[in-house]
Amino acid sequence: MEVFKTKAALKAYLEPLKAAGKKIALVPTMGALHNGHISLIKLAQENADVIVCSIFVNPTQFTDPKDLEKYPRPIEHDLAMLNTAGCSAVFMPNVEEMYPEGAGENWHINLGNAEFLLEGAFRKGHYQGVTQIVKKLFDAVEPDVAMFGQKDYQQVLMIKNMLEHFKLPINIITCPIIREDDGLAMSSRNIHLSKTDRKNALVLSKSLQYVVDNFQSYSFDELVKQAKAFYNDLEGVELDYFTIAKGDTLQPAETKEEKSLVALVAAKVGATRLIDNMIIK
Ligand code: AMP
Repeated sequence: MEVFKTKAALKAYLEPLKAAGKKIALVPTMGALHNGHISLIKLAQENADVIVCSIFVNPTQFTDPKDLEKYPRPIEHDLAMLNTAGCSAVFMPNVEEMYPEGAGENWHINLGNAEFLLEGAFRKGHYQGVTQIVKKLFDAVEPDVAMFGQKDYQQVLMIKNMLEHFKLPINIITCPIIREDDGLAMSSRNIHLSKTDRKNALVLSKSLQYVVDNFQSYSFDELVKQAKAFYNDLEGVELDYFTIAKGDTLQPAETKEEKSLVALVAAKVGATRLIDNMIIK
C-alpha cells in the first residue's frame, strides 16, 4: 500500500494508472477507522481497480474547536486496517497541503435548502466545510467513483448537490450503515462513550427501528412523539432532533405515499454527539 502526503506525489502515482485505463475510487475519511469505513473500501474494490483512501481531519467542517481537537487520530492503526483491507493507496495530507492559504480560505456554494436543516441547523457552515474539502479531494484524485456512507445521510445529499454545481463526472455510491451487533451505528466518536453512555447510545438505533417497524400503524406526528419518548428518562442523553423526512429534500414528511422516507436522529450521549438514520422506504 502506497502512502502519500502531497497532491503532487499522489498525482504522479495515479497518472500512469489512469493512462492504463484503470478505474479509480476515492474513499474520503477523517481516520479513526472502523469496520464501517472498511465496508466502503470493500465496496470500492467491487467498483474500481485502484482504491485511494484519504485520511484528513478537515478543520473547516468543525464548528466546535474542542470537537476538532479531541477528534481521534490513531494513524498507525488506520494504516494497518487499510493495508489488511487491500487498499491501494492512502492520501494523508496536512492542513497546509489542503489549505495553502490557511483554513480561512474563501468558499461558498449554493447547496440548496437542505443545507440549513438538521445537522446544518446544529452545525452552522458544516456542509460548506464538507463540500469544500471533498471538492479539493476530488480535484486531487479525479476519481471515477467516490464512496460515502448512508450514516451521514445529509452529507451524501450535499455532496451530490456540490457535484451538480460543478458538473463533475464522478459516480457517487452510497454505502449502507454498518452497526455493532446490538445496533449501535459504528462511528469514530463511539470511542469517547463511557460504559453508561455506550448503553444509553442504543436509544438512537432502537427509536429509529421502532419508527421503521411501526410506520404503517401511526401518523407521522404520533410516530415522532413515541420515538422521542424513548429519550425521556435517560439521564445524560439530550436529543437534538428526531424527524421523519422526505429522502430527497429532508423536508418533513407529509404523506406515507412519498417515494422515499427516512427517519433521522441526533443526540448528545454524555459529552459525545451521535447521529443515526434508517431509511423507511
Ligand atoms: P468519517 O471518517 O466519519 O468522515 O466517515 C468517512 C466515511 O465513512 C463517510 O462517508 C461516512 O458516512 C462513512 N461511515 C462512517 N460510519 C459508517 C458506518 N457505521 N457505516 C458505513 N459507513 C460509515
